[in-house]
Amino acid sequence: MNNLRNLRGTADLMPDQLIKWQNVESILREQLQRSSVKEIRTPIIEMTELFERGIGETTDVVSKEMYTFLDRGERSCTLRPEGTASVVRAIINNGLSNNSYQKLWYMGPMFRYERPQAGRQRQFHQLGVEYIGSNSPRSDVELISLAWDILQKLGIKNLNLEINSLGDIEDRENYQNSFIEWLESNYKLLDIDSQKRVKKNPLRILDTKNSETQNLLKNAPVLIDFLSQKSLDRYALIKENLDFLKIPFIENVKLVRGLDYYTHTAFEITSGELGSQATVCGGGRYDNLIKQIGGNDSPAIGFAIGLERLMLLVGKNFEIKRDIDVYIINKGMRAEAMAHKLSSKLRKYDVITEMDVSGSSISKQLKKANKCKTKSIIVIGEEEAMKNQFKIRLFSNNKDKEKIINLDDDDGLEKWLKNIIPDYSA
Ligand code: ATP
Ligand code: MG
Repeated sequence: MNNLRNLRGTADLMPDQLIKWQNVESILREQLQRSSVKEIRTPIIEMTELFERGIGETTDVVSKEMYTFLDRGERSCTLRPEGTASVVRAIINNGLSNNSYQKLWYMGPMFRYERPQAGRQRQFHQLGVEYIGSNSPRSDVELISLAWDILQKLGIKNLNLEINSLGDIEDRENYQNSFIEWLESNYKLLDIDSQKRVKKNPLRILDTKNSETQNLLKNAPVLIDFLSQKSLDRYALIKENLDFLKIPFIENVKLVRGLDYYTHTAFEITSGELGSQATVCGGGRYDNLIKQIGGNDSPAIGFAIGLERLMLLVGKNFEIKRDIDVYIINKGMRAEAMAHKLSSKLRKYDVITEMDVSGSSISKQLKKANKCKTKSIIVIGEEEAMKNQFKIRLFSNNKDKEKIINLDDDDGLEKWLKNIIPDYSA
């Protein structure tokens, strides 16, 4: 049994770590709710074809990183490497792809077979947001500002927003022609992966992680110079609005994003504190994806935040956990039964209760209560049990705050609870 370990690139999230995750997640949910974004949950496992068709077969994600296998019925299945394709499929399958504007979010694990390192895992988590059904630049601005505000709300400093426009399909075809010409004349200088892509999917070369090719690309034609006036106007409007919102951004003409489905707006939010895995949020417009997967011709834009990277950025204030409110000390058969009853009663209120089940001496239980920093204690010794009573005390030296209450006196208990939770709710 000793050699049974979790798989490389996966991680257990233990209770102490999860305090931070839960605190952050609850702020995320709250912010999304405030912006009328609704949750959607899709399966973690999908038909492989969804990602091949949706993300593009020549992308890194599909060609090298997917967890793909045959199930017992010989169907090719894949653990989702990202969330957008599944959300789009769900919308189409549920007959919603021609509905008006829909704002959706999802949160959960994603799987990519990558080289694990700080901020890069094989199972990681994303929060994703998709705004579906509008091609208005206002939708882009609204989505980017939501991503920006969420990160601000979490108190993350020194973030950089990088934006670019990839134009529409026509712009890209125009660009592709002259880019291919350039690639062919520099063919020998490209890395092998990029050489293979010249014919298959040249635009993907722009997203290469190979530093020599990246250097070479500095002299390549840039997509932005091939955008139509209409695309440029659209892009200009978005920049104007970001200026108006005082959201600082940097234009990065090299930003293409790793998936094939993007059009027009592409953006990333990075932090210098994350080392080489600097991108905490990536997003963009995908006006052709829904039709490509078999739905109506519906425009959309979305982003995804990597939660592991997000957790590295949020401050220690998210690690604060709520203390126990009431620790129930009990000794003796009758006292134990009463403790169960009390613990069940207390679940009606917004208090955190811990019941000692050790059966050890009252003084030992008291020590334990002390250690877990409870706000108050209930003591049921044999004497109290005989009288069907319990003693409840604020765990401080304040003698006034000690009271003996009858087990059936719910009003008495409720009144006392106001001592520890002024705004408790029944
Ligand atoms: P990268 O360039 O870092 O590989 P990506 O472009 O592949 O990122 P996206 O597909 O845009 O990433 O996913 C959105 C976000 O999800 C990323 O910005 C990152 O925060 C997070 N993410 C992506 N892959 C991983 C991973 N393997 N481990 C942890 N987080 C990840
Ligand atoms: Mg990647």
